[in-house]
Amino acid sequence: MSQKVYNWQIKRKMTYKYQETRPKKQVAWVFDTNKCIACQTCTMACKNAWTSGKGQEYMWWNSVETKPWGYYPLGYDVRILEMLGSQKWDGEKYAGKTIFESLPHGEEILGYIPDHDDYLYPNLGEDESSEPVSQGQYLKMPHQPWMFYLQRICNHCTYPACLAACPRKAIYKREEDGIVLIDQGRCRGYQECVRGCPYKKSFFRAYTGKSEKCISCYPAIENGVQTECVVNCIGKTRLFGYKSVWTNPREENPIDYLVHIKKIALPLYPQFGLEPNVYYIPPINVPDAFNKMLFGPGAKAAVQMYRKAYEDKKIIAALILMGCTDKIIHSFSVKGDLDSGFAFGYDEKGDEIISVPIKEPIIIRKSYDGERDVYRFSVT
Ligand code: SF4
Ligand code: SF4
Repeated sequence: MSQKVYNWQIKRKMTYKYQETRPKKQVAWVFDTNKCIACQTCTMACKNAWTSGKGQEYMWWNSVETKPWGYYPLGYDVRILEMLGSQKWDGEKYAGKTIFESLPHGEEILGYIPDHDDYLYPNLGEDESSEPVSQGQYLKMPHQPWMFYLQRICNHCTYPACLAACPRKAIYKREEDGIVLIDQGRCRGYQECVRGCPYKKSFFRAYTGKSEKCISCYPAIENGVQTECVVNCIGKTRLFGYKSVWTNPREENPIDYLVHIKKIALPLYPQFGLEPNVYYIPPINVPDAFNKMLFGPGAKAAVQMYRKAYEDKKIIAALILMGCTDKIIHSFSVKGDLDSGFAFGYDEKGDEIISVPIKEPIIIRKSYDGERDVYRFSVT
C-alpha cells in the first residue's frame, strides 16, 4: 500500500511506496555546471576506484554528458519525460504527476530497462551544440546555439525509485547518512531497480547476476574525506557534504547555504518526485525554458543570482571552497572583502581545515632571475 509523503522540492505531498523517513543527516553534492569542462577526470577516477572489474566495463557510475544531445544511457531522460506527460508547475508547486503517481496498471513505478545498445555510446552527442552554427552567428552575444556539460552520479534520493522497485528489499537507505546501497547478498538480479531509476544510475552486472550502483565512496566519507569524483575534479566544480532538512538549514553549512538559503543550487528533474540530493548550479548560457525543464521553476532566479554572485561574499566563498581540500567541509566562513579576504572551511569539530584567498594573487616574476642568472621569456 502506498503512503503519502512530503517532497519539499515539488512543494507538495505525493505517493510513495514506503513511509516518509529522513536520515539523521543526508549526503549531498553541489555541482557547478558553469565550471565543468567535460574532461571526464571524475568519470575515470570513479571507474578506477569502483568499476574496473569483469562485467563492469559499461558501468559509469559517474558520467558527464553534453546537453542537449548527450545522454547516458541513450535518451534516458527524454524517454521518461515523454512517459510522464504534462509537467506543469503552479508557481513553485508541481502540478503534474511524479513517476510514482503515473503508473501503468499493475506496476509500482513508471520506468523502462534500457536496451543493450543504449549503453554503448556514453559520449554520444559530446560537444554538440543545440543547433548548427550558421555563418557569422558566432559573432553574436549571447550565442544563439548553446550547450553545456551535465555531471551525473546517483542522487542518493530521499525517495529512491530503485529502492521502491526492488521486490527483494535488497536496497536500503542508510539511517546515519542517507546513502542508498544494494545488498549484494539479497539481490537476485531482477533489474527492477534498473527499470525504476529514472536517472538510470543502477546497473546490472551480468558477470555476478546482480545490480550495482554508486556507493557514495562510503569508505572515504566515513573517514572525513569527500568522494572520488569530487576530490579529483579538475575544474573544482564540485562540493560534497551533508545537507540539513529543508526546514532547519544551517547558514554556516556551505551545502545548506547554496541549496536551502540562497536556492542557487537545484535538483535535477525534481518533477520525477525522488527528491534527489545532487544539486546543480544551472548553466547561465541556456534558454530559461530548458533550464526550467531540468532544474524546476527556480532555475531562472538561480541563474540571475549566479550572475550577481559578487554581491554575496558567502556565495563566492562557498564556490571558492569547491575542490580546495579533500576533507569534508562541515561549516565555512568568510573574512575580509572580495579583494583581500579569505574563505575558511572547518571540520565537524569546528577546527579549520582550509583557507583560500577569495581573489587569487597574481604574481609577476621579473624577466631576469638574478639568483639563478637566467632570463625568463615566458613571464606569467
Ligand atoms: S538516482 Fe536512481 S539509483 Fe540513485 S538512489 Fe535515486 S533512484 Fe536509486
Ligand atoms: S572532473 Fe570536474 S571539470 Fe572534469 S568533467 Fe568531471 S566535473 Fe567536469
